[in-house]
Amino acid sequence: MGERRSNISPSDLTFSWDGCHRCLWLYYNHQVKAPMFMPTVGELADMQEKYFIGASTADMHPDMPAGKVFDHGGWVQSTPIQVDGKDSHLAIRGKYDLLIEFPDGTYGIIDCKMQARASDKSSFYSPQLEAYAFALENPAKGEPKKISVLGIYSWSLDRASGNLTVGFGYRVNAAWYPVDRDPIALQKRLVDFVTVVNGDMPESKQSCDQCKYIADRNSIVKSI
Ligand code: SF4
Repeated sequence: MGERRSNISPSDLTFSWDGCHRCLWLYYNHQVKAPMFMPTVGELADMQEKYFIGASTADMHPDMPAGKVFDHGGWVQSTPIQVDGKDSHLAIRGKYDLLIEFPDGTYGIIDCKMQARASDKSSFYSPQLEAYAFALENPAKGEPKKISVLGIYSWSLDRASGNLTVGFGYRVNAAWYPVDRDPIALQKRLVDFVTVVNGDMPESKQSCDQCKYIADRNSIVKSI
C-alpha cells in the first residue's frame, strides 16, 4: 500500500467521482486501484493528437475558433487546492491533449476523444477540462496562461476504407463540442472531492460486480 496521493488527476473529477467513492477513497489514501486494461485506447489517442501538431484549428473542424495547435501532451500542476480558505494536501496534476494558441494571446485546451458513435459529452467532461484550465491559470511553477476556450474534439467511427496498395484504415467523422468555462462548478467539485478523500472511508456502491467478485472470492478462499 502506498502513501496518500498529493495530486488529483483531472479525469478522476469525472469518471472516478461519478463512480464509487470507496474506490476513489482507497486510491487517494492508499494508492490501491483496480487494474484496468484498455487496449489501443492510448495508442489511438496519441496518434490523433500527434496528427495535429502545428496544425491550424481550421484544419480540424470549421466550427473551432481560429488558432494554432501550440503543444500536445503537456503536464500541468496547480497550486494547492483551497478548502475553507486553507491549502489542502491536494493539487491538480495531469496531462492535457492539445493546447491551442489564439491570436489574442489566450489559449484553449482540447480533449481528444475516439468515439464509436458521435455524442456530445461536454457537460460530463466539463470538470476535467476546467481542472486543466485551473492548473494553467494557477500553476505551481512558471507563468500563468489565460484560458479562453475549452472543448472536446471527437473522432467517431464511420467505415473501413483502403486496399492492399494504400493500406487499410478506418474513416472517422470529426466533431467539435465546446465546453463553457465554469470555474465555480469546478471549485465546488474540488471541495467535495477533497472532503470525501479526507473523510472516513465511504460505503461501497451497491451492485458493483467488482466488489461482489472480491467478496465471493474471499469467502471461497477462507472456506477452503
Ligand atoms: S463497490 Fe467496491 S469495487 Fe466497486 S467501485 Fe466501490 S469499492 Fe470499488
